[in-house]
Amino acid sequence: MKRYSAWNVFRNGLSDQKKWDRVWRDPDPKKSYDVVIIGGGLHGLATAYYLAKNHGIKKVAVLEKGWLGGGNAGRNTTIVRSNYMMPDNRRFYEHSLKLWENLSHDLNFNVMFSQRSHVSLFHSPAARDAAARRYNTMRVMNSDGELWDLNRLKREVPHLNYGPDARFPILGAAVQPRAGTARHDAVAWGYARAADSYGVDILQNCEATGVTRAGNQVVSIETSRGLISTKKLGFAVAGNTSRLWRIAGLGRLPIESHKLQAFVSEPLKPLLDQVLAFGVGGAHFYISQSDKGGMVFGGDIDWYKSYAQRGNLPIVQDVAECAMSILPCLGRVRLLRHWAGIMDMSMDGSPFICKTPLSNLYLNAGWNYGGFKASPASGWFFADLIANDQPDPIIANYDLDRFSRGYNIDERGAGPDPKLHG
Ligand SMILES: Cc1cc2nc3c(=O)[nH]c(=O)nc-3n(C[C@H](O)[C@H](O)[C@H](O)COP(=O)(O)OP(=O)(O)OC[C@H]3O[C@@H](n4cnc5c(N)ncnc54)[C@H](O)[C@@H]3O)c2cc1C
Repeated sequence: MKRYSAWNVFRNGLSDQKKWDRVWRDPDPKKSYDVVIIGGGLHGLATAYYLAKNHGIKKVAVLEKGWLGGGNAGRNTTIVRSNYMMPDNRRFYEHSLKLWENLSHDLNFNVMFSQRSHVSLFHSPAARDAAARRYNTMRVMNSDGELWDLNRLKREVPHLNYGPDARFPILGAAVQPRAGTARHDAVAWGYARAADSYGVDILQNCEATGVTRAGNQVVSIETSRGLISTKKLGFAVAGNTSRLWRIAGLGRLPIESHKLQAFVSEPLKPLLDQVLAFGVGGAHFYISQSDKGGMVFGGDIDWYKSYAQRGNLPIVQDVAECAMSILPCLGRVRLLRHWAGIMDMSMDGSPFICKTPLSNLYLNAGWNYGGFKASPASGWFFADLIANDQPDPIIANYDLDRFSRGYNIDERGAGPDPKLHG
């Protein structure tokens, strides 16, 4: 793989851009691998990369049933933040944010990470107190967080509905300045290219259809491109996790598959410099402006479980109402596209990176709304778990047993019931 550099850009310009290498190979599946990861989204690709880079395990394949990044990896609203209070998620997402801060350099690929601040509005003194507690905890633990009063907020984000007749009067905001956005498909391509450069085989159009076991051990995987043997197997298939779990003969998981929609408007002149989030009284809305000018936004998950990658109209209305109540200037803006992805909603709103009842099968799932920001740390710790067969202390509670222990990872503990996410 040629490294990208100013010199390379110049030299390829001289040959009309025709001499660039393929960004990653398109190999045929080998008969066997040391590790197979099912799922060519961000988590699968990041895992393969860190297996090779951090642990020297390079005989690795990533199986993707469609095209690389065609799942949630390329469908999300790209928000990256680490504003958690409770220890497990705080440490994990802070580790992820630190990896994000160096990711373009590490991958030698511009993932367009833009630390433009994440601004969470609050609308009541109680919400302000809760935000103060959470953001002060973050600061004490060496992360970053600020509270903006109304005057500061008006200066920084002038176009919000501050009027006396606002449906949700705004009192101020909790802000994480290091948070922001990145270009989602660039992240998938960057991880794929970097993993490929270590010799990882990325197998697109390769669906896992069966898992062959000998007792409590995985021996091989049946795929649409033939049988592949492996010493270790990892699942990183987001909204399809329950299906694969069943294929492996393991019954049911505490995960439901729900759809989440995202929306993008026609391009506008610069309107919003930050990522803005707002949630009050059952409303849930987040918005940022892409580098091309489109307003990128979303709201709640749809109200029923499904594996379809398309959304329903009531949520379109719901999200449009949220947009109008907080940013009325969007009222005449035209919507360009909207789409949906299949979310792996866990019962407590927190993820799994853990071992499973099968001795050489490892699980990465339960990312809910937040798996984009998690992807670097998820790959990092999942690779570590697969390589060393024991969890790093930071992810020790991201296991399936936490429900029987009654352990609460997140302060909200909100599961897949859409009402709980409002
Ligand atoms: C609309 C929307 C907005 C979001 N916004 C944000 C956000 O702003 N910030 C944030 O942090 N998170 C966000 N998320 C969540 C985030 O996108 C996901 O949590 C994350 O992408 C999931 O991990 P992944 O990328 O590995 O999943 P995916 O990209 O879904 O990867 C899983 C892959 O597995 C493949 N697969 C499934 N079954 C098989 C099989 N049998 N064989 C082979 N391959 C298989 C699928 O084709 C898919 O490509 C959002 C999600 C959606 C849908």
